[in-house]
Amino acid sequence: MTAALRSSLRFENTYAERLEGAYAPVALTPAPRPSLVAFNAPLAVELGLDPEAVRDEVLGIVSGASVPDSARVLAMAYAGHQFGHLSPLLGDGRAALIGELIDARGRRRDLHLKGSGRTPFSRGGDGRATLGPVLRELLVAEGMHGLGIPTSRVLAAATTGERVRREEPLPGAVLARVAASHLRVGTFELFAARRDGAMVERLIDYALERHFPERRGAETPALALLEGVAEVQARLIAQWMGVGFVHGVMNTDNFTISGETIDYGPCAFLDAYDPAAVFSSIDRGGRYAYANQPAIGAWNLARFAEALLPHIDPDPEVAASLAIARVEAYMAAVAAHRRAGMNRKIGLPEDADEELVAGLLARMAEARLDYTSTFRQLARGLVSPDAIPEALAGWADGWLAAIDAAGAPRDEVAARMDAENPIYIPRNHKVEEALAAAHDGDYGPFEAMVEVLRDPFTARDVDPSYAEPAPASFGPYTTFCGT
Ligand code: AMP
Ligand code: MG
Repeated sequence: MTAALRSSLRFENTYAERLEGAYAPVALTPAPRPSLVAFNAPLAVELGLDPEAVRDEVLGIVSGASVPDSARVLAMAYAGHQFGHLSPLLGDGRAALIGELIDARGRRRDLHLKGSGRTPFSRGGDGRATLGPVLRELLVAEGMHGLGIPTSRVLAAATTGERVRREEPLPGAVLARVAASHLRVGTFELFAARRDGAMVERLIDYALERHFPERRGAETPALALLEGVAEVQARLIAQWMGVGFVHGVMNTDNFTISGETIDYGPCAFLDAYDPAAVFSSIDRGGRYAYANQPAIGAWNLARFAEALLPHIDPDPEVAASLAIARVEAYMAAVAAHRRAGMNRKIGLPEDADEELVAGLLARMAEARLDYTSTFRQLARGLVSPDAIPEALAGWADGWLAAIDAAGAPRDEVAARMDAENPIYIPRNHKVEEALAAAHDGDYGPFEAMVEVLRDPFTARDVDPSYAEPAPASFGPYTTFCGT
């Protein structure tokens, strides 16, 4: 069944209608000289929209020039623990929710701008975004989607014609992103901190209906929601670990209720395997280091549980013990998903013990092997043992024995591994290369890279550097929050 694609956007506004008090209305300031620099046609189709027919309308929305009557533009209010400390009021300081679209599969999805100007939550900020981080978010999000990882995605990006003051003046840009919702742990923390239990109740109900409809009739909705978020986040973070993704700012305001990855700021993918890898310039203590992510997920979930406590049980001790059990369930789930995922990456049954994976990772760290390509090489090694990296020779004997003991023919296992292990990820040096070209007006490399990332498991006749680690000249990689 293919429904006809629509030629205009029609918004619904359940957040605006049902959660009054959790946002501030916003009037967008039109960009002086808007120019559409990226448009995600496959995503438009997913949204049930005819890409050619809606292009101009989307530019009108992204640039703030003309928003359809059906939209109710607003800045969402939220709090958040940032690097461990509560910021009692954050909110969309440079972003705006336009409304909700029902996609071709009937799913409700937010359309949200980033870089769209000041809001009542801007504090000292200018409400703007710049071209580099905007394009970077599109690239990395498409890469994550291509890898099968739940994520917000960028529908369109436009330059504004303004210069934005950063350390140096930079071209201003706005993006429109699509997400299952922008509800986050911080949304709940804001109203819990204000002791606004009625609003927390409304949020629980809204979040259950939107993301966990099957749990809506639960006896204790708050507990059902905590369980649901624990499950989707355990799956998500295990997937990040599998592909070597480092989010970089897993503050509770960036930790979604939907279980999607949002807020691509200082994120990056591992090159050489290093569990302690940190890319963000502001993460000096390594709080959000690669290997710390499963534990930080538990920390964030504990903050969510705290916000929900009075709604779990009137007796604080009972509430706490019920909540703790859910956080523990998350920890068990993230470990189980990781074990299954890592075993799949090396072609073993999901429930194989973790010794081989642990041994492999220890050797990869020691030899600083490239995280992504090593797994593809191992698959090659099943058919031609010469392909196994030398640093893994001692380990590989045990691995090959385990593969053969599991009984499937080696070439079949290799094909299964290739379906798990990508060839192409948004490699940091390639991302930077594409952004530098775009900054100089050449969008060719950016567009080519988006294409490559959409199908990351299939080898293609493209520049081999897409699949290779950064040259030594690239140096250590540091990322910055997209401000
Ligand atoms: P983020 O790092 O994007 O998750 O943002 C953290 C908080 O800072 C959010 O409340 C943002 O809205 C706010 N923020 C970040 N950059 C700006 C900016 N240029 N102007 C206003 N607020 C900002
Ligand atoms: Mg954020």
